[in-house]
Amino acid sequence: MAQLLGASGYRLTEEPALADILIVNTCGFIGPAKEESFEVLEELATHKLPGQVLIAAGCLTQRYGEEVARRVPGIDGLLGTRRWMDILEVVNGLRNGGQPEPLYHLPESPTIGKDEKGVLRAAVQGASAYLKIADGCRRPCAFCAIPLIKGTAVSRPMKTILAEAHTLQDRGVREIILIAQDTSDYGHDLGMKDGLPQLLEQIVNEASEVDWLRVLYTYPGYVTDRLIEVMAAHPQILPYLDMPLQHAHPATLKRMRRPANMEWVYRTLEKMRTAMPDLALRSTFIVGYPGETEGEFQALMDFVGEIRFDRVGTFQFSFEPGTPSEPLGDPIPAEVKQERYDRLMKLQQGISLKKNQSLIGKVLDVLIEGEGDGLLVGRSYRDAPEIDGMVIIEDSAQWKGRPTKEALIGKIIPVRITGAMIYDLSGKVDTQSGQ
Ligand code: SF4
Repeated sequence: MAQLLGASGYRLTEEPALADILIVNTCGFIGPAKEESFEVLEELATHKLPGQVLIAAGCLTQRYGEEVARRVPGIDGLLGTRRWMDILEVVNGLRNGGQPEPLYHLPESPTIGKDEKGVLRAAVQGASAYLKIADGCRRPCAFCAIPLIKGTAVSRPMKTILAEAHTLQDRGVREIILIAQDTSDYGHDLGMKDGLPQLLEQIVNEASEVDWLRVLYTYPGYVTDRLIEVMAAHPQILPYLDMPLQHAHPATLKRMRRPANMEWVYRTLEKMRTAMPDLALRSTFIVGYPGETEGEFQALMDFVGEIRFDRVGTFQFSFEPGTPSEPLGDPIPAEVKQERYDRLMKLQQGISLKKNQSLIGKVLDVLIEGEGDGLLVGRSYRDAPEIDGMVIIEDSAQWKGRPTKEALIGKIIPVRITGAMIYDLSGKVDTQSGQ
């Protein structure tokens, strides 16, 4: 949307009072995200200036369009997540109409790959870019509203993705992050087998100057031997894998309608760690799912303690009307959810700290993303932007005669790790490496 508007002469401001058009890209995935979206919309609607138009875009709007318009009467336009490419039409319709009539663009069918209007889909943030390879999801997870919001999985054609990877390389992007609701399902709807490894191999060829390729959101059961082989064979593909497992007790997983074969999980994690000894493994878990007994939760704790993930995200179950788990209700009391959440977080924090401490003395390549107060801040292969940690690089005399800190932003430099915190590392530029 930002690119389409930018190409039409609009400039971005993050200051609402300066804007002609206020666009809120909402999230409707879980209750707290919905409420946050409503709060932002209500706040902007309350302080809307004469002549400003307010547009609610994104997932919340797609799923609860009528409720959004009813709850926030100051909204002028609604744009569903599947029709982001109509943003100019909505903006022009609202701004040319004098007294704007609300405009609704909420289609039923998925539109990815069909009507992209030649826009670069990747979201570029500094030297990194999120490259979306598919949209929607065909998995049956009982707690999840995404299939209701996004529809079934639709993969983008490989040649479109490769062209985009090439454009990102030409723009100097150092890291491409492949995303989809389920990246391991890539190409299934196009009749491909092992679509993700095929795609990765092609990107390695097409964008060989991009230093890092990172894969997020793989689905258990679909991380194949071929994927592991391809990841291990190409240094450009980071030894980082995000596989949300959601739980570790087969009974909970069955109620979640998720893959419940824990033998597969153990076997696959072992294969991955053997093929990529430096693998950084990330997973997410839900606590307080309906029917989760103390014993089931303890099995999750044991599993997390045993596997020793590098990164773990924990969520408390959020009841979502309309999802397959609706009949199970939300029987676990909030304080039990909170207590389990705290226990799991505490366990993982101890593991994370130990893992980080084991890196002291090692040299990691770090993508520099910012500077301030005499420090540089960046990420290593172990850190996906925004969800994982960072590496803080201390200032020292070694900077003398070297590029300015500003000039290092967007570059990948070797850093010797000197300190470890729960989530983050600190270090010094490694002068031995000739940087
Ligand atoms: S795989 Fe992810 S997006 Fe798809 S239904 Fe399950 S939780 Fe939702």
